[in-house]
Amino acid sequence: MAQKKYVYFYGVSKELTEGDSSMKAILGGKGANLAEMANANLPVPPGLTISTEACAYYSKTGGKYAPEMEKQLKAQLKKLEDNMGKKLGDPKDPLLVSVRSGAAVSMPGMMDTVLNLGLTDKSVLGFIEQTGNERTGWDCYRRFIDMFGDVVMGPYTGLTHHDFEVELEAIKKKYKAAEDTDLTAEQLKELTEVYKKVYQNKVKKPFPQDPVEQLDLSIRAVFGSWGSERAEKYRQINKISGLLGTAVNVQVMVFGNMGSQSGTGVAFTRDGGTGHSKPMGEYLVDAQGEDVVAGIRTPKHLDDMPNEESPIWKKAYADLQKIMARLEKHYKYPQDVEFTVQEGKLFMLQTRNAKRTGLAGVRWAVEMATGMDFFTGEKQAKILNQKEALMTLSGDDLEQLLFPIFDIAAEKKGKVLTTALPAGPGAAVGKIVFEAAEAEAAVAKNPDEKVILVRHETSPEDVGGMWAAQGVLTSTGGMTSHAAVVARGWGKCCICGAGDLKIDYAKKTVGIGGKLYKQGDWISLNGSTGIVYDGQIPTQVSPVVSAVVDGKASAKNDPIYKMYEQVSKWSDSNRTINVRTNADTPKDSKAARSFGAEGIGLCRTEHMFFEGDRIWAIREFILAEDEISRKSALAKLLKHQQKDFEGIFKAMDGLPVTVRLLDPPLHEFVPHTKKDQQEMAKRLGVPLKKVTERVQELHEFNPMLGHRGCRLSITFPELCVMQTKAIIGAACKVAKLKKAVKVLPEIMIPLIGTKAELDFLEKIVRENAEEIIAKTGSKVTYLVGTMIEIPRAALTADEIAETAEFFSFGTNDLTQMTFGYSRDDIGTFLPDYLGEKILPSDPFQHLDQTGVGQLVKIGVERGRETRPGLKCGICGEHGGDPESVKFCVKAGLNYVSCSPYRVPIARLAAAQAAIKG
Ligand code: PEP
Ligand code: MG
Repeated sequence: MAQKKYVYFYGVSKELTEGDSSMKAILGGKGANLAEMANANLPVPPGLTISTEACAYYSKTGGKYAPEMEKQLKAQLKKLEDNMGKKLGDPKDPLLVSVRSGAAVSMPGMMDTVLNLGLTDKSVLGFIEQTGNERTGWDCYRRFIDMFGDVVMGPYTGLTHHDFEVELEAIKKKYKAAEDTDLTAEQLKELTEVYKKVYQNKVKKPFPQDPVEQLDLSIRAVFGSWGSERAEKYRQINKISGLLGTAVNVQVMVFGNMGSQSGTGVAFTRDGGTGHSKPMGEYLVDAQGEDVVAGIRTPKHLDDMPNEESPIWKKAYADLQKIMARLEKHYKYPQDVEFTVQEGKLFMLQTRNAKRTGLAGVRWAVEMATGMDFFTGEKQAKILNQKEALMTLSGDDLEQLLFPIFDIAAEKKGKVLTTALPAGPGAAVGKIVFEAAEAEAAVAKNPDEKVILVRHETSPEDVGGMWAAQGVLTSTGGMTSHAAVVARGWGKCCICGAGDLKIDYAKKTVGIGGKLYKQGDWISLNGSTGIVYDGQIPTQVSPVVSAVVDGKASAKNDPIYKMYEQVSKWSDSNRTINVRTNADTPKDSKAARSFGAEGIGLCRTEHMFFEGDRIWAIREFILAEDEISRKSALAKLLKHQQKDFEGIFKAMDGLPVTVRLLDPPLHEFVPHTKKDQQEMAKRLGVPLKKVTERVQELHEFNPMLGHRGCRLSITFPELCVMQTKAIIGAACKVAKLKKAVKVLPEIMIPLIGTKAELDFLEKIVRENAEEIIAKTGSKVTYLVGTMIEIPRAALTADEIAETAEFFSFGTNDLTQMTFGYSRDDIGTFLPDYLGEKILPSDPFQHLDQTGVGQLVKIGVERGRETRPGLKCGICGEHGGDPESVKFCVKAGLNYVSCSPYRVPIARLAAAQAAIKG
């Protein structure tokens, strides 16, 4: 039986190299990329990678090496020694190596680097002899004792880098050395002796003098660090799972601390903050790797390198630039590299995909694919095609272009008060108010007033105040709570479910993060991360929104807008499904269309009932005792609704508009405080008792499972009649205008569970629609369809499709009813479920593809069995979530519908799904 391979060789030559970048799972990111660079004949110090499988074995067996691993290590080490012409521990000419961890994804929290392994009291002399550099010899040895003591023995003995650092400072003081580099060989030798004592004191054993033992302990330390608490925690926070373990890289040392012609540094092929294509980085002359990151000495800017005194630096700089360009082209992604220059010769120690901000990501993508700097117009290398460029982006990257964002440096310094659900994106800064009416009043008085509405939760009555506020912060509710849905629809910043908020409406105070805030105190919200900050953090406005929504001509010349436009164009030319929007007003419809929406997938008509005096008409309807009075109340609403629809149809000229009949339970339209109920009684001329009794009657134990959706119109058919008249009346009117509008209305009946419910209402819709069309002599055509929000509807989709001309999956309710989790109350237990990994993520945010997704697939399949080609879409909040959009493409939906500001993100996700196939 062939033996399992645990130890891989790289470097010296392409022929000897045993891995490549496709082997990240086994070799870890670092090992795989080192092999890949060696294959490309780049100057990589040779070495060995012990596989992640060996780590998995070690973890599983509680600290045993996999059978054969030691034998393979010995043989590969011999190969390394033979090729280098040096031996580990040789007192005359020792081979020195570094030992580093490296999992498949880069992961802070695991063991750091150990450099100069192989030095002992004897071999240090041989090393000095060979290099002729006494200072470097002692410098390397004292560094090795420090690193070995800290990272290998530290976890078990409490020995830390600090223990050594105090001794270094002491000796610098003793000899009046300003910098480490001012210490002489003799002084460093003295320091080495001190370090050995520091080691012995804590470890209770002398510093190991056998390099094989040094290596063995280091490998065990790397393997052990995989299961350390901080590494576990990191994986948990970053949702990293399914990895075998970490690899161990044992690499031949090159020395950056050999004097003025040596040095070490880190560099990025492009700027990860601004996205600028110019390489950037830092380096130190006469130093080893950890000095650059440790902040002991201040590193120099990469641009200074060619100006160093020694002429070797000009060449090293040129070589580095060339290699970086090659790496970027090879990996088709900007790289983050580590390098060392040893006596004028450049070596590459690591390369990996560079980290970046959303803005930088978009800039990299468009510039690498067009070969042009979007800010200066300068030419650069074309590295990606448009499909590859799109695949480098995420929805979050694009989102960063659309919303006001905090000044990056200022946010870093901000005082974090709490973190909750990032429900509506962007940044908001304002003074705290607790009542929607006060927010409205403050902004009405002074349009420049900036307020943040802080509430337990919001209700439809609060929309005016929410609109007036810069942002909304709630203590309860999840990603589909009223506040979240409404805020996202507007592209407004919103943070939900901040459970540790202690709001006292009466005193107008809120306790956050241990501090009491009064009305009028300033706070800042980052709705993209869910972080609440103390005070005012400066923000920047998005040029994309200025150009797209406000139509500002100057913003259209902004490079950020141009980049957005480029990504959007590429997205559209690659995607296979349509993207619509959820919008309820002409204004939102216009904005969504400018963002590329190809119709409305959900117009929630109830949102229209809160504006101005309309709420009084619906309240009159609610109090009415017979059909005649109900009809008379509805007649008042009819004209308003029809006008709204006319506006929306105009904004969506030529595109389909799906209008949903009234959905929420009626109790949402009545006031719940005594004072407001008194006002209602007075205004409608009825006794207070009548109001309170009706409000009580409307109370339901489970309103979301109660009298709502199609059930309302079945009890009160006049509601359905009024809404049909408003929709079709508006359609016929705008279709007849001089400048005729092309209308494609789609009337959608919500929350059906049986075909009979749909049949009942479809009949009413068609009778009334036909009557108006006949009366006006119009040629308007329309569809009648339904939402699939109840599992039973998905399961009986074949029957339902006999009547329904289209399906729209309402995955908010479908998720609620499939899991049985209340969409409004999930916040109370979701953190526990996520913490215990009972749920992988909030199912109201990311579609549960296995369960809820299965119902979507069944619904599509069965619906199309009855009605081939049945138009299917999604209008739940998942329609704007990139992963869910990708699922929708695979499930064969014709479109996704999402809030206006998510439209560009859905366009990108749809394109990515199509490219991936
Ligand atoms: C849904 O349930 O997915 C939906 C879009 O309807 P609403 O959120 O208005 O209940
Ligand atoms: Mg619903």
